[in-house]
Amino acid sequence: MDTKRVYYFGNKQADGNGKMKNLLGGKGAGLAEMNLVGIPVPPGFTITADVCSEYYTMGQEQVVELINKDVVNGIHRIENVMNTKFGSDENPCLVSVRSGARVSMPGMMDTVLNLGLNDVAVLGLVKKTGNERFAWDSYRRFIQMYADVVLGMKPENKDDIDPFEEIINGIKKEKNIDEDINLSVDDLKELVVRFKKVVKDKLNKEFPQDPWDQLWGAIMAVFDSWNNERAVYYRRMNKIPDEWGTAVSVMAMVFGNMGDTSGTGVAFTRNAATGENVFNGEYLINAQGEDVVAGIRTPQEITKAGSIDWAKLHNISEEERQKKYPSLEEYMPEVYKDLFDVQEKLENHFRDMQDLEFTIQEGKLWLLQTRTGKRTGAAMVKIAMDILDEGKIDKKEALMRIEPNKLDELLHPVFDKEAIKSAQTLVKGLPASPGAATGQIVFFADDAVEWAQQGKNVILVRIETSPEDLAGMDSAKGILTARGGMTSHAAVVARGMGKCCITGAGGMTINYKTRQIEVAGKTIKEGDWISINGSTGEVYEGKTKTINPELSGYFERIMELSDTFAKLDVRTNADTPKDAQVARDFGAKGIGLCRTEHMFFDEERIIAVREMILSDDEAGRRAALDKLLPMQRGDFEGIFEAMHDLPVTVRLLDPPLHEFLPHEDENQKEMADEMGISLEKVKEKVEALSELNPMLGHRGCRLGNTYPEITEMQSRAIIEAALNLKKKGINAKPEIMVPLTGTKEEMKLQEKIVRDTAQKVFEEYGDTIDYLVGTMIEIPRAALTADEIAKHAEFFSFGTNDLTQMTFGYSRDDAGKFLPVYLKKGILKNDPFEVLDQVGVGQLVEMGTRKGRQTKPNLKVGICGEHGGEPSSIEFCHKVGMNYVSCSPFRVPIARVSAAIANIKYAQETVNV
Ligand code: PEP
Ligand code: MG
Repeated sequence: MDTKRVYYFGNKQADGNGKMKNLLGGKGAGLAEMNLVGIPVPPGFTITADVCSEYYTMGQEQVVELINKDVVNGIHRIENVMNTKFGSDENPCLVSVRSGARVSMPGMMDTVLNLGLNDVAVLGLVKKTGNERFAWDSYRRFIQMYADVVLGMKPENKDDIDPFEEIINGIKKEKNIDEDINLSVDDLKELVVRFKKVVKDKLNKEFPQDPWDQLWGAIMAVFDSWNNERAVYYRRMNKIPDEWGTAVSVMAMVFGNMGDTSGTGVAFTRNAATGENVFNGEYLINAQGEDVVAGIRTPQEITKAGSIDWAKLHNISEEERQKKYPSLEEYMPEVYKDLFDVQEKLENHFRDMQDLEFTIQEGKLWLLQTRTGKRTGAAMVKIAMDILDEGKIDKKEALMRIEPNKLDELLHPVFDKEAIKSAQTLVKGLPASPGAATGQIVFFADDAVEWAQQGKNVILVRIETSPEDLAGMDSAKGILTARGGMTSHAAVVARGMGKCCITGAGGMTINYKTRQIEVAGKTIKEGDWISINGSTGEVYEGKTKTINPELSGYFERIMELSDTFAKLDVRTNADTPKDAQVARDFGAKGIGLCRTEHMFFDEERIIAVREMILSDDEAGRRAALDKLLPMQRGDFEGIFEAMHDLPVTVRLLDPPLHEFLPHEDENQKEMADEMGISLEKVKEKVEALSELNPMLGHRGCRLGNTYPEITEMQSRAIIEAALNLKKKGINAKPEIMVPLTGTKEEMKLQEKIVRDTAQKVFEEYGDTIDYLVGTMIEIPRAALTADEIAKHAEFFSFGTNDLTQMTFGYSRDDAGKFLPVYLKKGILKNDPFEVLDQVGVGQLVEMGTRKGRQTKPNLKVGICGEHGGEPSSIEFCHKVGMNYVSCSPFRVPIARVSAAIANIKYAQETVNV
């Protein structure tokens, strides 16, 4: 059977449906589904995302051949439904050509509106609508958009002059007009003449008049826009595969700019910032498609309640609000009612918050898009739990709606209430994306990127943002715009990024040229500090103190629900009682990695540590270790106490010794005095201990095997600490972990030292505790010989940082030099130090677990590399059958949800097999 490449929709019928997002893109699937549930949608067709891939492999000519017949048919269907004709001078058929990937990438790819207009069709549009102004305005907009998107005339950077804007400004000057809306019909006609001329001058060819040429140009341009810079950046940021491609939806134009009974808007079925179950959105009267999202005009609220809140925020009186900024509910009650019914129907149908785009053409409502709405972390949690409570989804589905990484936003700091009281408010805007941010002002996206690279915290301040600003928004701590509403580009993108954002702060005037803001009678410059509160819309002068947030009841519920589904336990990597406590509060079930070396850097201790390293013989080392013993014991008592009766994995000393050595003269002199030797001698020792490849050198259990007294001291400190706590009624559960094991002999020797020491301490105390001895698996050889190593280990913990380093042969410390290039060129899909390489390193993890359990079926297995807090890696750990993952304290909630999702997904997969 032939592959179906074009799917029609219209008149409440559709070839596709809402489930076909992979093929039709989110937009195409939503359009099909809306038809099937009887919602008014302009007719059209969707060219599949697979065709986009074919375009990239076969090229334009072959792809046109493949879809030509279906596309021509598609246009004829639109003509039939709408009773129009492509290029007609009586009743022209106009279409929009829109991009749409399987997940929404707001504003990243291109769209062309009003396609089909030419010198003849514009006259047809005049006849059909009787509205000359509207027709010529549409035509001049079309030429500009088409030239930008399809003919490549869009300015590339902030210094380039947009030729079309230049022409518009020229005419306005000649006619002494300040707003576009005041251009006369003749002015608009003149614009068309000048626009066509500039196209001819620049490109040496006429602006295409044949609608079919226009259509093919636009389709290919949308395919091309899949690979434009900002789309590529967005994909990388959101880990969207390059192979997916975009679908293209071509649909009949409906016009929101046909006068005062027309309009356009964007709406959400619930609040995308807070998750509150209230219908909300914004609209503009007599405006077209992109005007709302582009943030060029500040739109009005759809609901009356929303409008009243908005007016309060902007200090607008009720009288003025009703007169100048009425809600859609008040301005067009009938249309509002239709829209309200549609949103209710759509949310119930999709059982999730929807983001809608609509157009009102002369009093009739048309839906142009519905998609799962982007939301903040807080909204994500609340909406999932609310819809669960409403009985529309089950617990599993509620958990599957959680994007674990987005929980991170909920854990971010907020402004300290006390500090806020004394902060000077500069201006108020719309609370577009919650959170608190303090930083230095920059006005341009590229500056935001550059300043952030220099380690500065910046707030990107713009009149409005556009998709070109994406990288700058990503680099900034927060975003503030003077124009635009809750659904402007800045708001939607910031919410998607989980970044604090305020939009529509109209009380400030931004001057890009002088790089200054005039606000509240003050002049604020680039580089000045401001603080923005995305939850209230307030902008403060200077820096403001932040504190940790209080977590809502919804968050707790998600966590509890996760634990009922998760099989993996979640532990934490913590080296101090404070971190241990934070992690416990987030629900950690123990410590999976306590790196003891971090305890050695304390000013008082480092001297004893250095003394140990620099000693010539065992006696000297033992003397120094004796000084460290009580300090280490104290450390462990603190940590065991914080974790109470939960297990604590303590890793024996791991890093290359030279990391502790004094490298500066001053410190070397101090060491010499302390040890009563000459400075030269110290220098000699430091020199002798330096290594060419420290990561592969004298570190890990190689230390404990060359200097067994280190392992002895640490084991003693651990066991003594546990025994001391036992006296206080605390049941510490130490798990002593040997780092960097590569052979069973290494492990055998270390195990013996630990057990002999423990036995000795038990005898001294006349008491015992339970403890385990295990090892990290972080050298490929350890994974390959895990069956042998397991003979001497009661648990394994995969140190996937080192395991990745050694499997790829990428130095952890030097990979920053080439990894970004590898990612950009697609040589690697992800940074393997962030996302576990399941294909390669994963084989070693799987094999190590399997072989270890061949020897000891109940071997406890976990992971403590950075991957232990990364959702896709956690899923892998679940599949391999690990007992736990361990991650940094702030990632514990993310890991808990990921563990639950892994179990739900995996169980479903096995059922399906
Ligand atoms: C690891 O290698 O994964 C690990 C946890 O140890 P470290 O990062 O301390 O080398
Ligand atoms: Mg390691």
